Amino acid sequence: MKFYSTNNPSIRVSMEEALLRSLPADRGLYMPETIPSMGADFFNSIADDSLADIGFQMSSALFKDAIPANRLEELVHRAFPFDTPVVALEKGKSHVLELFHGPSLAFKDVGARYMAAMMGYFLEQSNREVHILVATSGDTGGAVAMGFLGVPGIKVTILYPTGRVSELQEKQLTTLGQNITALEVDGTFDDCQALVKTAFTDVELNQQFSLASANSINIFRLIPQSFYYVRAYGQVKHFGKPVVFSTPSGNFGNLSAGTLAYKMGLPIHQFIASTNLNHVVPRYLETGAYAPKPSVETISNAMDVGSPSNFVRLTHLFNDDFDTLKQMLSGYYFDDEQTKQAMADVYQQFNYVTCPHTAVGYLGLKSYQHIHKDVCGISLATAHPAKFKELVESVIHTPVDIPASLEELMNRPKQSIKMKADFAEFKDMLLQTA
Ligand SMILES: *Cc1c(COP(=O)(O)O)cnc(C)c1O
Repeated sequence: MKFYSTNNPSIRVSMEEALLRSLPADRGLYMPETIPSMGADFFNSIADDSLADIGFQMSSALFKDAIPANRLEELVHRAFPFDTPVVALEKGKSHVLELFHGPSLAFKDVGARYMAAMMGYFLEQSNREVHILVATSGDTGGAVAMGFLGVPGIKVTILYPTGRVSELQEKQLTTLGQNITALEVDGTFDDCQALVKTAFTDVELNQQFSLASANSINIFRLIPQSFYYVRAYGQVKHFGKPVVFSTPSGNFGNLSAGTLAYKMGLPIHQFIASTNLNHVVPRYLETGAYAPKPSVETISNAMDVGSPSNFVRLTHLFNDDFDTLKQMLSGYYFDDEQTKQAMADVYQQFNYVTCPHTAVGYLGLKSYQHIHKDVCGISLATAHPAKFKELVESVIHTPVDIPASLEELMNRPKQSIKMKADFAEFKDMLLQTA
């Protein structure tokens, strides 16, 4: 399996290079050059398979030339010691796909842990060291920190904006130690991202380190996210209805991953792109014009993205054909009031607690089903409600428990390096660790 760059389809690199380099030099994004089809027998046989079982079979189809089967199986099982269960709100009609059973309680664990396992494998083969830089507004940093903790050959530096992440999120970034360093930047998320971007283009830093990204621009965070769409299909296939997925979206990595599953043969009837008021993609579907904008702040803040970095992947997966994309993908967007109302309604009707992102996905599914009644709907639950405890409690007026595994983190001391949003300071700090 080779990868091409979306800016230059004649460029071809190996799995190892796409994984470790993260970004092609031409600033495009890596995409798989061919997408193998799994065949109908596979999709008919997976009802009882775990996420790891399915992940291994799909990984084999993709990467059997790069990693021996027994190692691949072990790596995939190490990445996914948890499952992604489908929970019915209304059986056969409306379900949620719970993607928050990993260590950081958000779906980003799936991508981060798979990527960590694969990187660990290639680094062990080559005795190389990689330094991962990641800017986070909250969820990505926690998944990356927990996913890469203790992986030999990898150092991780996480930049986060001081005072702008939740307490639980900050604990996930700052209490692990070992190969994980947290930089608490006196600035915004955009400042953190700008520092990381500048580092990737700095000649001296690139001579000193093999720098890599763990944001969803890395195709290896995205590929494993296709596995849970397949796992979910296995859990609802027996209803015998067309299956539709609603994906609460920001950077559109998650939805691109669903499209990848579809390209590998998963019989999906329709995708739904559900967003908050950062609605570039739903608007694009309405008008045919793609108009990125500065982001606006909402309560589903992991989706506050005005210029989605995976949009180009989504269009590539549909061969840049707007009409085909529009046939397969519906788009809806919702404001904060509608989101809170949905959180309250779902709790009242089904006794089920959602985070604000999950509520946006639920609303998108409902809007679609208003017209298309006889489909089996699955909306993706992207984070555990405890990650947004204060907000959720204020909406449903009921306490939300933090899972035991994270209670323990809450008691550990925070360790961070405070820093101005200044590239020279950031660079010195990195060079000192070389
Ligand atoms: C990252 C995130 C999203 C958005 O996912 P994309 O792949 O960027 O579209 C949605 N919900 C939660 C909870 C997230 O952490």
